[in-house]
Amino acid sequence: MKAFYAEEQKRHDPKAFLSSGAAQPNPEMPERVERLLAGALSAGCTIERPRDHGLGPVAAVHTPEYLDFLEHIYTRWQRIDGASAEVIPNIHPIARNGSYPASAVGQAGYHMADTACPISGETWQSALWSAWSAVDAAEAVMSGAPAAYALCRPPGHHAFADVAGGFCFINNSAVAAQVLRRTASRVAILDVDLHHGNGTQGIFYTRPDVLTVSLHADPVRFYPFFWGHADERGEGPGLGYNFNLPLPRKSADAAFLAALEVAFQRIRAFSPDALVVALGLDAFEGDPFGGLSVSTPGFSRIGEAIAKLGLPTVIVQEGGYLCDELGDNLTAFLTGFGGKTR
Ligand SMILES: [Zn+2]
Repeated sequence: MKAFYAEEQKRHDPKAFLSSGAAQPNPEMPERVERLLAGALSAGCTIERPRDHGLGPVAAVHTPEYLDFLEHIYTRWQRIDGASAEVIPNIHPIARNGSYPASAVGQAGYHMADTACPISGETWQSALWSAWSAVDAAEAVMSGAPAAYALCRPPGHHAFADVAGGFCFINNSAVAAQVLRRTASRVAILDVDLHHGNGTQGIFYTRPDVLTVSLHADPVRFYPFFWGHADERGEGPGLGYNFNLPLPRKSADAAFLAALEVAFQRIRAFSPDALVVALGLDAFEGDPFGGLSVSTPGFSRIGEAIAKLGLPTVIVQEGGYLCDELGDNLTAFLTGFGGKTR
């Protein structure tokens, strides 16, 4: 299987992260890339550098206001006396009533959902290359490959059309799905990350052409808290095209695989032409977030089960944090999916 990754994706190196109000090292570290690359190589992937696709595929799912913010906010932030080294918001609108602040601080609060996505001088380029890896993987599948893997880092599934959050800036899975839509009438996105794919859900919430399905730790007591509940089913023409499967904390392989079968039933009924897998590996039992308890062989079974859908598939890396097994878990998923034979 082809895998896509560019060195520039490693430059984004966020320092800050508030967890329950306390400053902690940001878990979305560049070292994740080394572990994931090793995992992809062990699964027999060939690594290719993506092309520069310009802003087009990104602008297809994000607002121009937001992209302009992402590109320029770091420079603007540096002009503020006494500002932090990285862009971190400290005030957010409780509701969006149409007004848009002119100040960098106001816009940071408007466009950033939390403190987990600090923006440095390298963030914009890293996020763009991450998205371009997703574009190339989608194009590989459109050219006839049964599957391709995008080593997307920074990740993307918490990014809405105009809001960053949870380590995410550009929604790579949404970008891949939108690229697939050039030839596919219907695309399904299956998000198996520990956390609900709230940004992806938000981007496609009113659309019937992209089905969004997410399995995740129940947000009633887990990030992202305000999204990911079973009663969120889509809106307007998109009603019935969003499907959330919240799982009890510490659910292990059997419960995850059972929920996956429920997800498959919905995906089959949608009859998509192509599939995007938002592959978070943080549902792992040894992941620092500790929300679910999927084992390494469990990831292999998840990969195997998804492959049986028989759909052209773009696998987009989402979460999965530093632990000894991070690379092994990717290898397990890709090998289960059929990485050695494709
Ligand atoms: Zn996650």
